[in-house]
Amino acid sequence: MKSEISIAKKRWIRPLSERLINKIAAGEVIERPAAVLKELVENSLDAGATRIDMIIEKSGTRLIAVADNGCGIPSEQIEIAFARHATSKINDFNDLENLRSYGFRGEALPSIASVSRTRMISRAEGAETGVEIIVEGGVKQSLKPVTASFGTKVEVENLFFNTPARRKFLKAETTEARHLTRNAIALALGAPAVRFSYALNERTLFALDESHADLKTRTAYLLLGKNQGSLFEIISQTEKMEIAGFLSHPEECRQNQYSLFIFINGRYIRSQSLNHAVTAGYGEVLPRGNYPVGAVFLTLDPSKVDVNVHPTKAEVRLSDEKLVHDLLYQAVKRSLRGESLSGADGIAPPQKSVPENYSINEAIRKARAFEPGEMTGSAHSFLRELYGPSNSVKAHAESSSPGPEPAPIASAARTEKAKEPVSLSDADPACYLGQFSEMYLLFKIREELLIIDQHAAHERILYEEIQRVMEQGGAISQNLLFPLSLELSADRYLLFEESAECLQATGFILAPFGGRTVILSAVPAALSKKSPEKIFLEIIDDMEIIKKAGNDFKKGIAQSIACRSAVMAGDRLSEEEAYSLLRRLMLTEKNYCCPHGRPTTIRITRSELDVRFSRK
Ligand code: ADP
Ligand code: MG
Repeated sequence: MKSEISIAKKRWIRPLSERLINKIAAGEVIERPAAVLKELVENSLDAGATRIDMIIEKSGTRLIAVADNGCGIPSEQIEIAFARHATSKINDFNDLENLRSYGFRGEALPSIASVSRTRMISRAEGAETGVEIIVEGGVKQSLKPVTASFGTKVEVENLFFNTPARRKFLKAETTEARHLTRNAIALALGAPAVRFSYALNERTLFALDESHADLKTRTAYLLLGKNQGSLFEIISQTEKMEIAGFLSHPEECRQNQYSLFIFINGRYIRSQSLNHAVTAGYGEVLPRGNYPVGAVFLTLDPSKVDVNVHPTKAEVRLSDEKLVHDLLYQAVKRSLRGESLSGADGIAPPQKSVPENYSINEAIRKARAFEPGEMTGSAHSFLRELYGPSNSVKAHAESSSPGPEPAPIASAARTEKAKEPVSLSDADPACYLGQFSEMYLLFKIREELLIIDQHAAHERILYEEIQRVMEQGGAISQNLLFPLSLELSADRYLLFEESAECLQATGFILAPFGGRTVILSAVPAALSKKSPEKIFLEIIDDMEIIKKAGNDFKKGIAQSIACRSAVMAGDRLSEEEAYSLLRRLMLTEKNYCCPHGRPTTIRITRSELDVRFSRK
């Protein structure tokens, strides 16, 4: 590196070495481990593979391996495959206009090999033996015949070992893991006939077989766990464009948009405009901030799509983007309506039964191993839960007894008036006047009217409680009558793993159960009135947004749980609950605002009213 720079200083003009060119190109083509995975798998698909195994270690920085049963590369050509702009896929400009393969630039292999140690073993159809080539930092290390099965296997080790800047810019391993997983899912969705497996950091996150060959099963398996019933088909055929795919019903939507995959002519693309078209197609049935889950395939005249915009090819240029947007929007709208007319009540509820091979001892051992601290669910209650009347009954919390009752107001009356508008002492008797608009609680306190936003206030209370138990321990869990066995999608499973420890600290009791299954056996007491599965999944989805925004993880979890479990606008509160909310709000540290900064309370004094009524 150093010598190359000093040559530049002498101002000699000379061509760059092939090695350096590849390294520079690698900066463009290979932005992160996920890009390597995509290039390798696309090569396998171009080679006609019907089986592709992906193995990732240390989120791609140690190993990215892809093995296929495709056509292979003849021994005498394997070295050329690593030469720049060498491709078997296009010959002339015409081919580029009517592209049918994923690859065409002949850039991926040389780029990858220039910034890693790459080993490729391949045996071409009909060949007697295989061949192995090792290229490190763009330099061939060895080339020799080996015994091998038909197909190709590429192992990329030590990615970016010779580009320290790039290596440094890699995000946290967990972030890279999510990018890898998203690409793996997109690739598997895009080629439904191919049996894919994907193992990340020693766990198999998905393994597809013949039973996942149809798109609906595959979409459900990859994006929703197993819940097929909640997908509807989207289908539309017009002169300009064909649309096919499966999308989730509104109730299965997610709080982030990373589970919507859009493909154009078989290629996974990212497009804000098309994401919008799908989301807008749901109209009002999709609550704000929710996004559909699913895979949508658009087929249009290849000459109307320019895939040549960017080397990573996730962005495409459409010659009539507005039209494509509108057709997609219409198709989603119509398909959703059609489905809700015909099959609204025929939707099978998600399976919640404990798996057949559920072993009690094993479950207890796992739960113990996972939560070294004190477990709320004793072995006894575990047994009872398992041998309950029916395993498949929707789980409910055992009782709805609330968390600890806070101490009376007097002990924690606030004094810093300027910053904290709510301050009461035990000499201030609050009189509850009622609930307004199922959202605001009205109290009379001496000569003042106190208006509380019930959601914001409850959020503040829960947020501080959760933060406290996260720091000091002592979370109160509510056992579920029946532990829930949740089969998560691959990306949700990753988020679960990352947040498990924090979630346990707040009172969730969770244990991995092999594959992507998680057993949820208790929730924080504050959540006892909500659907445990729904809340858990909502919180997991929030994690994605917190991660993406780079916010403090613990704080984010506390915020998310507080927000998800707080009473909502529209919840009717009893008088007793209203008083309790006020009391508990007074005990919080920042009782004037919710964790997002919105005010919890507004107070109107008698004299303010007098002014408004022109009495003063
Ligand atoms: P491109 O895919 O754009 O052609 P690459 O650098 O990715 O460029 O690959 C170079 C060539 O190596 C391909 O054109 C193909 O002939 C060969 N190749 C790469 N991977 C495989 C594979 N898994 N199976 C068969 N051939 C492969
Ligand atoms: Mg390629």
